[in-house]
Amino acid sequence: MEKRELLYEGKAKRLFLTDDENLVISEFKDDLTAFNGEKKSSEVGKGALNNKISTELFKLLEANGIQTHFVKMLDDNHMLHTKVDVILIEVIVRNIATGSLTRNLGIEDGKILPFTLVEFDYKNDDLGDPKLNDQHCLILELVEHQDELDKLRRMARQVNDILRPYFLEKGLNLVDFKLEFGKDSNGNIILVDEISPDNCRFWDVESGEKMDKDRFRQGLGGLTVAYEQVLNRILGK
Ligand code: 5GP
Repeated sequence: MEKRELLYEGKAKRLFLTDDENLVISEFKDDLTAFNGEKKSSEVGKGALNNKISTELFKLLEANGIQTHFVKMLDDNHMLHTKVDVILIEVIVRNIATGSLTRNLGIEDGKILPFTLVEFDYKNDDLGDPKLNDQHCLILELVEHQDELDKLRRMARQVNDILRPYFLEKGLNLVDFKLEFGKDSNGNIILVDEISPDNCRFWDVESGEKMDKDRFRQGLGGLTVAYEQVLNRILGK
């Protein structure tokens, strides 16, 4: 597969065209950003860890019936995947209250939610990714029909139902995560982006230690060591 011109550069990945119009290549960068790009850094090896973790999790989800954009990992920092039209909705799934949920609503940090909460954020850096309800999504024409919003919620819950027990068995609480979706050339809604400690929160079941990007957001240090531990637990090492 030939890597051709740069199509788009995001905060954590670069997207390249290929010689197949239906396939693109993501390059996972070592760059780290938080608070809508206000805090920036870089950690050698972070991109490769996220590529490897995402690869394992996309394979797991595909094996459990979730359609994703994943095709294959090409090398440490590159993933081949389906080209989609990205839906500009960040689907946030929460099992335990923390982060913006506790900040915005005053819910106690660490409270186990009585049921899994699914929220929509507008994928729009200029506006600071504000919360959306279904009517906002339809008015903004982020999707065509209510059915598609229902499908995003359904798929997000399915992903949670697969990943939450999977990580619990590996001694990690899946606290919350952000998913992105896109439409492939047939109009099917599929899971895209990455699934990694950059967009999931993992807390060690025994110690409560944070094993995700909050180590960077909160200045705790030890980010790549934590990401490597997440990968090793996935690989059963
Ligand atoms: P919160 O809304 O508490 O900041 O984030 C909830 C979850 O979604 C966390 O796991 C967080 O990593 C993820 N998340 C929310 N927004 C973004 C975003 O814009 N980028 C990334 N990488 N993750 C996000």
